[in-house]
Amino acid sequence: MAQIQTLDDISVENKKILMRVDVNVPMSSGVITDDTRLRHILPTVKELIEKKASVILVAHFGRPKGQIVPDLTLAPVAEYFGRLLGQDILFAEDTVGEKAQNMAASLKAGQVMMLENIRFEAGEEKNSAETAKALAKMADIYVNDAFSAAHRAHASTEGVTKFLPSVVGRGMQTELEALDKALAAPKRPVAAVVGGAKVSTKIDLLENLVEKVDVLIIGGGMANTFLAARGFNVGKSLCENDLIATAKRIEERALHLGKQIILPIDVVVAKEFKQNAEHRACSPQDVQSDEMILDAGPETVAMLRQTFASMKTVVWNGPFGAFELLPFDVATVEAARIVAELSEKGMITSVAGGGDTVAALNHAGVAERFSYISTAGGAFLEWMEGKSLPGVQALQNAKAEA
Ligand code: AMP
Repeated sequence: MAQIQTLDDISVENKKILMRVDVNVPMSSGVITDDTRLRHILPTVKELIEKKASVILVAHFGRPKGQIVPDLTLAPVAEYFGRLLGQDILFAEDTVGEKAQNMAASLKAGQVMMLENIRFEAGEEKNSAETAKALAKMADIYVNDAFSAAHRAHASTEGVTKFLPSVVGRGMQTELEALDKALAAPKRPVAAVVGGAKVSTKIDLLENLVEKVDVLIIGGGMANTFLAARGFNVGKSLCENDLIATAKRIEERALHLGKQIILPIDVVVAKEFKQNAEHRACSPQDVQSDEMILDAGPETVAMLRQTFASMKTVVWNGPFGAFELLPFDVATVEAARIVAELSEKGMITSVAGGGDTVAALNHAGVAERFSYISTAGGAFLEWMEGKSLPGVQALQNAKAEA
């Protein structure tokens, strides 16, 4: 994690800290149904309180697009987070206006306040200097602990770093260190698993990974396009015919670089896309024109067991099959268990994240057993694509001192 300053590089005592967090928790009828994201923030907030700083939490919730949308207020989140933290959180009813400024001005050491949904403010997503300055005015130091928002150049993730000394929070620090170990400076050999529905959503990701990893394992619906590019008839399977040329280009690039691309060597097919559909395992060359590939087969899993065992690092995004429809979850579940086991034994470092991956690994019951699971979605994918994330870049350019 080169060049980024952390809480170890700065004194926060009696300072006001503007802390960007991700509190975008799932909610149903006003009730928080999963508080994982809130728990992620706790260590940094607790550390700041212990060090006698005061904390101003800034976050977005949903997509109000610069308008005040009462249903997207952060008030219930502030209250819930207060209970987790074990102390009351002051809630500012506006974002960067007078109420928030006054509340911030009278904040005492050890106190925590939360601003209203920062996306109620039109200048947030526009990354307006005014909004960034108004945020900065409330505090002495900026701490970014929201890796999941780091792929956006918004006032609270990027703009504000131009006006305050800026450091990374503990949660985002851990995440960046894990990601660094997985792709920037991995122990080799390194394999990437890329599954999921479509090649079209992951072209950049595949093109970046083929350069960086030693073995690229392609599964899920997207493997069908690669199988078709190798000349197999994939029947009624999800297959993007217009991307066959792209698949061929990626295969050629791998060949040129001496990298290995692994596709399923056997597949599970069904005639219907539904739970418990009648199914069979077969070789990719035996898929009939009225069948569709919904999972990788047992021989593929056995082969992957050997592949994973010969790796030092595994990066994972996307399922091997239509895992929501049982029993087409088998390859995903079994492969995930193999990676979890090797991780627990300390034989590999495993990092997974993005899109449905966390849901698939939770379904396999192994999320806790990977070395690191990122819940960052879009930011994780952009990182896997090799893109520079504005929120991370901003911290690299920023200083811990004024
Ligand atoms: P993604 O969001 O791109 O990671 O894709 C995840 C989705 O891909 C899941 O909803 C899976 O059901 C779907 N998927 C994986 N394999 C297949 C397949 N062989 N055919 C159709 N859908 C699939």
